[in-house]
Amino acid sequence: MVDLPDTLLAGYRNFMASDFADERMRYKELADQGQTPETMVIACCDSRAAPEIIFNTRPGEIFVLRNVANLIPPYEPDGEYHAASAALEFAVQSLKVKHIVVLGHGRCGGIKAALDTDSSPLSPGDFIGKWMSLLAPAAENVTSNTLMTQTERQTALERISIRFSLNNLRSFPCVDILEKKGRLSLHGAWFDISTGELWVMDSQTGDFIRPDTDEMPVQPESNETPAA
Ligand SMILES: [Zn+2]
Repeated sequence: MVDLPDTLLAGYRNFMASDFADERMRYKELADQGQTPETMVIACCDSRAAPEIIFNTRPGEIFVLRNVANLIPPYEPDGEYHAASAALEFAVQSLKVKHIVVLGHGRCGGIKAALDTDSSPLSPGDFIGKWMSLLAPAAENVTSNTLMTQTERQTALERISIRFSLNNLRSFPCVDILEKKGRLSLHGAWFDISTGELWVMDSQTGDFIRPDTDEMPVQPESNETPAA
């Protein structure tokens, strides 16, 4: 008995008939030769902020790590289970990605939880509470500002979380060394799910600015021959 939700089976059927058929040769090449993505994207689990969709990527183009609120914890080689660090290690040391993008987004539930310290845990394990405690000092700073509205606090902490992850990325020796050698670039971006706007972090000032769509490069057409 095939046991998957109908929506997934229907989606897969459509994928095989369209995208997979269009990219058949590319998938074959990727299978034979392995992946060589140049960019790692660290994004939130949120179903509305999928980096492959936002950046309109093809298979094999981006190596994606998703977790609640797109966080990278500090470098802690303590023998514990570190999923984010494992993905980062593979991307940097094995795939040798040239870029790492931390992609935050608007209306982030993880960030909302970090700001709402009065809320009770979702389960006895309180995994979200523990995970978001990484951002607790920043969240306290933001919540203590009584002149900000709740919406402003939310957006501020979403953007701070991006800078926080970028700082923690640099606490990993491999990232720090490669960035200083100019072989790895770190980037921040924030996606507004309500408008589709992408705000990109200025690497000098840390400010988020909207790039001019007219000045963005044009994505090359796929040169795959659609399967018959
Ligand atoms: Zn989120």
